[in-house]
Amino acid sequence: PERLLELKDVNVQFELREGTVRAVNGVSYHVNRGEVLGIVGESGSGKSVTVRSIMRLLPKNTSRDDGSILFQPKPGEEIRIDGLSSKSKKIRDLRGDAIGMIFQEPMTALSPVHTIGTQIMRTILLHRNCSKKEARERAIELLRKVQLPRPEQLVDNYPHQLSGGMRQRAMIALALSCDPVLLIADEPTTALDVTTEAQILDLLRELQAETGMSIIFITHNFGVVADIADRVAVMYLGQVVETGTVDDIFYNPQHPYTRALLQSVPRLGQSPVHRLKTIPGMVPDPFNVPRGCTFNPRCEFAVQGTCNVEVPPLVRFSDDQQARCHLAGKLPQEVA
Ligand code: SF4
Ligand code: MG
Repeated sequence: PERLLELKDVNVQFELREGTVRAVNGVSYHVNRGEVLGIVGESGSGKSVTVRSIMRLLPKNTSRDDGSILFQPKPGEEIRIDGLSSKSKKIRDLRGDAIGMIFQEPMTALSPVHTIGTQIMRTILLHRNCSKKEARERAIELLRKVQLPRPEQLVDNYPHQLSGGMRQRAMIALALSCDPVLLIADEPTTALDVTTEAQILDLLRELQAETGMSIIFITHNFGVVADIADRVAVMYLGQVVETGTVDDIFYNPQHPYTRALLQSVPRLGQSPVHRLKTIPGMVPDPFNVPRGCTFNPRCEFAVQGTCNVEVPPLVRFSDDQQARCHLAGKLPQEVA
C-alpha cells in the first residue's frame, strides 16, 4: 500500500497555569492511500491534538511541537507539514483543498452569518480557478452528493435553518468542496442520535468508496471504529499503544488497554447491566503521568517492579500490528 501521510515521533506540549501537559508523546502512525484509519481512545488521550498538529492548528500556549509529518498528496510529491518545517503557508493552501476537515460541532466550521452556498463557494474560489457561477453549480452538486434534499434551495439557507444531521452533511459538503485526498473527521457523529449517526457513517463510507480519498476518523466509540475503519490506532495518554487492522484489534488485541476498551463496548442482545464493564481507575492526572507504562495504575496485568518502572517497548506482530506493552504476546488468551 502507498503512504499518503506519515507521522514519526510527534511531540506536542502545552503550558498551562497548573504546569506542563505532554499532550502528544512520541506518536507515530501512517495513513495509506484510500484507507480509513480509525483513531480511538478516551477523551484526553491526544487524538484531537495529533490531528491539530497535522493541520497546524495548535493553540498559542504550545511549547513543544516537533517530530516529522510527511504528506504525499500525489505519488512523488512529498511535503513536510510538521512544526520543524517552515512551510506554514503550504499547509494553509492544503487546508480545505487537499485536506478537508469535519468536526463534532458543525458550527465550528460553518459561519452562522453566511449561507451554506456562500461558504462552499468561498472555499472553491479560494483554491480553484473558476467563475462564481461555476462555483455555485459545484456547491449545489456537493449538497446533492451528501444527499441533502432540494439542494437548489438549500444552497441559499443559513446553517441555523438546518437540523443537526443536515448541518453535519453541509459541513461534509464544505470539506469535500475541493476533492480532498485526505479527510480528517474528529468525532463527527458524537453529538448525533444513533440513527443519524448511522446515516452519516453510511454517507462517509459511500463517499470514500466513490472518491478513493483517505479518512482519519477520530472517535471514543469502538462500535463506530468497527463500522468505518480499515486500520486502527489506539491512543492512551498521548501515546499510540496499539495499531492493527480492524480484525487484529477486534479479534486479536494485544494491549491490555485495547482489551479493556473492547470489553466496555455494548454488545447486541446483552442487558445494559451486563454489557458495560468500565475500565477501573480514572484517566490519570495529565500533570502527573505515571512512570514506566502510563497505563500501569489501571492495568489488571501490571507487573510491579517492571511496568511501573520501565517504559514498555513497541512489540511488532506483523506489518500492521504493534503494541506497546511489556507483556505483549504473553497475555493470557482471551475467552470470547
Ligand atoms: Fe499493563 Fe504492564 Fe502492559 Fe502496561 S506494560 S499495559 S502495565 S502489562
Ligand atoms: Mg477530541
